[in-house]
Amino acid sequence: MAKWVYTFGDKEAEGDASMKDLLGGKGANLAEMSNLGLSVPPGFTITTEVCDSYYKQDKQYPSDLSDQVNSAIVQIEKITGSIFGLKKNPLLVSVRSGAKASMPGMMDTVLNLGLNDETVEGLASSSGNDKFAWDSYRRFIQMFGDVVMGVPHYKFEKYLEEIKLSKGVENDSDLDCNNLIDLVKEFKEIVKTEAGLDFPQKPIEQLWRAIGSVFSSWMNQRAITYRKINNIPMNWGTAVNVQAMVFGNMGQTSATGVAFTRNPSTGEKSFFGEFLINAQGEDVVAGIRTPQNLTKSDRIKEGSEQLSMEEEMPETFNELVSIYHKLEKHYKDMQDIEFTVQRGKLWMLQTRSGKRTARAAIKIAVDMVDEGLINKKEALTRIDPSSLDQLLHPMIDPDSSLEIIANGLPASPGAASGSIVFTADEAESQKSLGKKVILVREETSPEDIHGMHAAEGILTSRGGMTSHAAVVARGMGTPCVSGVSAIRINSEERCFSVGTKVYKEGDFITLDGSKGKVIFGEAPMIKPELNEDFLKIINWSDQYRKLNVRTNAETPADAKIACEFGAEGIGLCRTEHMFFDADRIIYVRQMILAEDEIGRKSALSRLLPFQKDDFKEIFKIMKGLPVTIRLLDPPLHEFLPNKDNEIDEIAKISGVSKSILKRRSEALKEVNPMLGHRGCRLGISYPEIYEMQAKAIFEAAIDVSKETGERIQPEVMIPLVATKDEFNLLKERIDNVAKQVIKEKKSSLEYYVGTMIELPRAALCADEIAINADFFSFGTNDLTQTALGISRDDSSSFLDDYLNNEIFSIDPFVSIDKNGVGKLVKIGHDLGREANNKLKVGICGEHGGDPESINFFHDVGLDYISASPYRVPVARLAAAQAAIKLKKK
Ligand code: PEP
Ligand code: MG
Repeated sequence: MAKWVYTFGDKEAEGDASMKDLLGGKGANLAEMSNLGLSVPPGFTITTEVCDSYYKQDKQYPSDLSDQVNSAIVQIEKITGSIFGLKKNPLLVSVRSGAKASMPGMMDTVLNLGLNDETVEGLASSSGNDKFAWDSYRRFIQMFGDVVMGVPHYKFEKYLEEIKLSKGVENDSDLDCNNLIDLVKEFKEIVKTEAGLDFPQKPIEQLWRAIGSVFSSWMNQRAITYRKINNIPMNWGTAVNVQAMVFGNMGQTSATGVAFTRNPSTGEKSFFGEFLINAQGEDVVAGIRTPQNLTKSDRIKEGSEQLSMEEEMPETFNELVSIYHKLEKHYKDMQDIEFTVQRGKLWMLQTRSGKRTARAAIKIAVDMVDEGLINKKEALTRIDPSSLDQLLHPMIDPDSSLEIIANGLPASPGAASGSIVFTADEAESQKSLGKKVILVREETSPEDIHGMHAAEGILTSRGGMTSHAAVVARGMGTPCVSGVSAIRINSEERCFSVGTKVYKEGDFITLDGSKGKVIFGEAPMIKPELNEDFLKIINWSDQYRKLNVRTNAETPADAKIACEFGAEGIGLCRTEHMFFDADRIIYVRQMILAEDEIGRKSALSRLLPFQKDDFKEIFKIMKGLPVTIRLLDPPLHEFLPNKDNEIDEIAKISGVSKSILKRRSEALKEVNPMLGHRGCRLGISYPEIYEMQAKAIFEAAIDVSKETGERIQPEVMIPLVATKDEFNLLKERIDNVAKQVIKEKKSSLEYYVGTMIELPRAALCADEIAINADFFSFGTNDLTQTALGISRDDSSSFLDDYLNNEIFSIDPFVSIDKNGVGKLVKIGHDLGREANNKLKVGICGEHGGDPESINFFHDVGLDYISASPYRVPVARLAAAQAAIKLKKK
């Protein structure tokens, strides 16, 4: 018989932390905490396999599930001494989702389940608190009505506000018991009107409906979006956790809270979190009341007058601290924990590896190595390479004068500027137009996830450091300032005000998520300082990685940045990009439009000195490290003149009439320039172009070698080769230029000639090409384009449909299509190496900066990857992770 249900509680469990695939993260960790002897309210987990079968069997459960659930309920009853559905001392449960990867707030939760018109009386007498019992019942109807029966949340909230207004009270907790009894009556009416059904009174029916709605929530839109953003596979499914309720809202000795064992923003080793007295869990996360600090020192730092937990409940606080030590030691990682205090007794509701910023991840990893909790290899696998991006990007110039609009909590670090928008949909639509936006909300909810992802920064007027906005923004690496109570949002008028000042949709603001500041306008930014811990991690990476890491750079500025980030050479210098400057592009255009060799040579003679000087500068910066220079590969549409004044300029410098130039420009226009007269085809047609470039490269190399004493050994790379004959012909011409330059300069020079492999034919015939080549560099941008037959320039118009229909799990231009394009890389690599065992092989497409792809290139056995300068540290860490491949948490 299949086992669908695993029980936990009373200091033992059927599962454990290693069973995340089956029990989900939450279920596995509840079991683990029970095994550790912590106080966990008893309960059971329905496995992710049931979710899978639920979807496969047209939303039917396995036939033996209900028996297993019933006996698990009996077990909870035995431990708690209360009975599900019995009026006297009734058992109430929570029903929560819990997938293998945490998806905070994306799926459904129901609390206080088991209450009905009878058991509410029982709860009142067992707790000795009528008001608490009726408040729990009205919360249950509200939550169940919303989540399970589809009654909009605001219908209940509207009535709640009305009743508060009529009674002249401000907070929900100021309502008296009779008000709550009225509220329950009214809420049941709302359910009946909106859902067309009575509110279910049978607890077992409530339970099965809640379980069904948690499984269904796996496929709700926000969960789908979250999975897409975070690359979580659809077929993982969620588990369902059913657990005895404990109550943080049973009066002044009860509380509920969230804590991180280390600071999730900075990584500092200090217990950090928030709690609320006399409240239920969702009150903290939803930002309804401003939570209190856990520690006295945090309270003092924030200038809060509300006592901290350390001061208010010292004994329970100390117990919590000792649990946090136990959990960290056990899991060897920073934990994010949820707890409830019911009349002075502490209950643990959740522990999981805490989400953290890149800065915190680095500090925690380094500190834990120093503390002897983990080793360096483990430390390296704890950091998401892509998240390093957050630390490498600009921050607000501390010397600039800023117009501060308001202050709030530094919820997610980093700085960002953008124009104000007030809805997630608007954020998304502005982003699709290429605009940068700051999403401004009173508070965010999981429905906003797409807008939060689209925004550069997030600003909320309510909520604390563990509010939805704060947690999600930190996870995304998006700067966030939360709880800015000075701002008043007027969504209808699409503006917010601070005192008498009004800021409208479209106005520019800047957020400083590290300091909690909201600034008017676009603040000046500077390059960030790399701290010691960051450098430690990156240097540790170098001890393990097998792949060399180069950079794609064609300007001295980029080459310098890449060197600071530890690039071990240039893997791709795109020479056509060296001509983008206004004073140069004109000569490229003159060259392209020239009708004969004389015209072309005249333009080339102007370009030669620019090229030579650029190469010299780059060789000097790279100090003898390998530099791969790719000969001209200009897709013609990027270079042909479009405007009249551009034609005028060329006419002036070339002495050719405007009408001839226009005609020539028209004649050169291609239907499909990406597959047109570009790459080595241009070199084949016009030998003088590559000859000029080779001359500039070789002369520069000899000059710099002489000036600096470094051995400069340039690598000349031919683009878009499909056949060995193209390569051999061009290589011969390049060799001839080299001979000539060496003779003229009376000097020696070591150089290499290789090719891009970026067409399927080149990969399939790599053995033929490799015989005469010194190196290969996979151009996976063009290889993806040509293998899939999907235009690099046009794919965005339909790629989303492919992602939505799960034909692609990720954009193949971002992460390599391992089965198809990857296979070509492997074939090309293996054939090339078989034919020429001295062949050096690298990759210089955008995939060189993508951790998943880097892992693949490591497995193929490439020598190096080449990434854009800011991605170099990302690539170093990802290459180390590829070599280590410990199972990631
Ligand atoms: C490539 O095609 O992968 C490549 C690096 O060249 P480019 O992007 O310049 O076409
Ligand atoms: Mg290319």
